[in-house]
Amino acid sequence: MKDSPHLEKIFQDARSICVLTGAGISAESGVPTFRGGGGSVVWKGMPFDEISSARMVRENLDEVWEWFDYRRNILKDCSPNLAHYILAEWENKFFDFTLITQNVDGLHTKAGSRKVLELHGNINRSRCLQCEKRFQMNETDIPHKPEICDECGSRVRPDVVLFGEFLPISVYQEAERKSSQCDLFLIIGTSALVYPAAGLAEVAKINGAFLIEINPEETPMTSLCHKSFRMKASQALEFLRRFVR
Ligand SMILES: [Zn+2]
Repeated sequence: MKDSPHLEKIFQDARSICVLTGAGISAESGVPTFRGGGGSVVWKGMPFDEISSARMVRENLDEVWEWFDYRRNILKDCSPNLAHYILAEWENKFFDFTLITQNVDGLHTKAGSRKVLELHGNINRSRCLQCEKRFQMNETDIPHKPEICDECGSRVRPDVVLFGEFLPISVYQEAERKSSQCDLFLIIGTSALVYPAAGLAEVAKINGAFLIEINPEETPMTSLCHKSFRMKASQALEFLRRFVR
């Protein structure tokens, strides 16, 4: 690759790096992309954005749990791939490394990443509808446990951001703060159509970061990025790994 020396210097000079990941990085682990990619998933006659919505939690929480337990059942057999492992390794190699993900599958943690800013929550966590106490589930607890909050006796729901809901504000603010301070920003496997990926990349760029996109397809982010790799996440990260010591 003709611009490798340039990239090498970018990586060597980078003190602070932010990586934003989306569904594309987990697709290589066999995690289904439930939204986008043409033809959205339909569950019991309901499109993805209906079964995964705030309204469904209010109207039919049983159905929502059935859908999430179905997804958790698929996920429990999925393992992290090389891309997840390389990012876990990078956590120890940069002075300041921040991993931000739109994924709820927990594969970054499974690969060994210790600190992950999960913008959309985690599919193996639930929270009380009433007092918001959170519960970590084992991935093999299918159907989910507990069903009832041990603090107040109310029902619990998946701790995942659904359609019609806001992102967890403290997690987003931390992601935004880190994005504004980094000198290298990688955006991996997301079309960035899903809010707020584009916002974080823009914040990084305005503040002078070098932006690298990794995605097999061109995305709305491509024009914003300084460099794009039209590759799968694992291929591109394996290439870039040589610049990280
Ligand atoms: Zn409670």
